[in-house]
Amino acid sequence: MWSLPAPNIPARALYLTCVSNTLPKVKRAKLEALEDTVADAADRYEAAASAAALHTLKDLKGEPADKAVQEELKKNYTQRMARPYAPGRDVYNEIKASVRFGRCPLCGERHVETVDHQLPKGDYPLLAVVPVNLVPACRSCNALKGEAAPASAEEQTLHPYYDDIGKQQWLFARVLEDAPAAVEFFVKPPEEWDKVLVARVRRHFRMFKLGDLYGPHAAAEMSSLRHYLKGMDTQAVAAHLGKMADSLFVDDLNHWRGVMYQALAANSWYVNGGFAAV
Ligand SMILES: [Zn+2]
Repeated sequence: MWSLPAPNIPARALYLTCVSNTLPKVKRAKLEALEDTVADAADRYEAAASAAALHTLKDLKGEPADKAVQEELKKNYTQRMARPYAPGRDVYNEIKASVRFGRCPLCGERHVETVDHQLPKGDYPLLAVVPVNLVPACRSCNALKGEAAPASAEEQTLHPYYDDIGKQQWLFARVLEDAPAAVEFFVKPPEEWDKVLVARVRRHFRMFKLGDLYGPHAAAEMSSLRHYLKGMDTQAVAAHLGKMADSLFVDDLNHWRGVMYQALAANSWYVNGGFAAV
């Protein structure tokens, strides 16, 4: 998971922008009357997210009770924000564009194509267009998460605006010493992390199937490495792999490439010719 600066857009302003062209006027007035309720829900969301406690917002679930109003709140996102030329579309685009290299912050690999609701709009219509609940994502991560909402602190997936776990390495790989060489990725959290954070990172890794995503990418890179390393002596192989890991870690301690090079450099079977085994 890769952290991002939270969008600096007031929830109230975005909500009013989205409802601004709602017709008929009587429907718009009904939505405008909810302005304070939505702003309060957004304030509570920010406080809960800052404390890694989004699961405590259960009383916002299914609010407001009127199903027709719930549908209109969801349409604020689907019709009045995500659609081309919708009043909230600029903010939608801004959120999508906030990532580095166009990469999804949830998997760190695939391209951002959509916006994911950290707490699903189906369960939490009041949060449908709250900016800090809207996270840029690739379609696969968006689909894998679906309508999941955390029932406990441990069930919260990582939130790119509130959880910054990039300062320490938590993603590692082990070499599978069998021809052709491969690596397997796993989570090994720093010892000082509390239990809840450990559970959340493991859940994030499982939910977004990060091991299944990174493994084939690593296999493809190792296939071309086989040719590159051919003819080098053991020392040169180890030096190249170590240098690659070091340079990739400068930018990101938990990207599969740096982690893969780290594991390969440390594996004597691989360095001593395992790389060439087919
Ligand atoms: Zn993704």
